[in-house]
Amino acid sequence: MGNDRNKLLSLEEHISESSRILGLRSIPHIVVEERGLPNARTNLSKILITTAALEIFTEEEQFAIIDHELGHISNKYKDWIFYAYLMLPFIAFMMLMWIGLSVLPVLSTMVLLFSLLLFVILRFPLNQWIIKLKRRSEFEADGISAKLGNKDALVSALVKLKPLLNENGGSRDSYNSIVQLIFRFYFSKNNVYPSIEERIERLKRY
Ligand SMILES: [Zn+2]
Repeated sequence: MGNDRNKLLSLEEHISESSRILGLRSIPHIVVEERGLPNARTNLSKILITTAALEIFTEEEQFAIIDHELGHISNKYKDWIFYAYLMLPFIAFMMLMWIGLSVLPVLSTMVLLFSLLLFVILRFPLNQWIIKLKRRSEFEADGISAKLGNKDALVSALVKLKPLLNENGGSRDSYNSIVQLIFRFYFSKNNVYPSIEERIERLKRY
């Protein structure tokens, strides 16, 4: 237990150091998730890392992964279109909340249908463009991690991760199945994430 605490303290220290270099306004917290597969993600205010990632990856590899997530945080203004796109089908609900509950049921239904129609109309022409944006965002996050001095550690983390992913490039845990299901709804069969090979290839060029 004491050992785990020291590990987290060194990760926290690393996050504040990298955040300072990247000029982030606030330092994200680290949260450990009990999951059997190595993964890290960010909700832009926190960086979530799984217990498996803490076990499987060396400290240098963990720093590299965390700096990739910090890369997403420092690029959040570039990535806003992607998040706005993911919110598209929920516009109806947001509009309803805004209008309030006094609204007539028929109007609620119309707002809902309008919002879904908007999603269907916009989804197809925007799809390839959004996928391109998301892929670029992943490469840029890798680039930021490399610039912070993690190039080799990130490559070795990706090599370790590769056999743990399924053929679609997703990890086999329940959180990722949900994410993949949502992404399939948005992007059909297209995988929005670049493959491990593509990421390693790009990293070598930095
Ligand atoms: Zn990423």
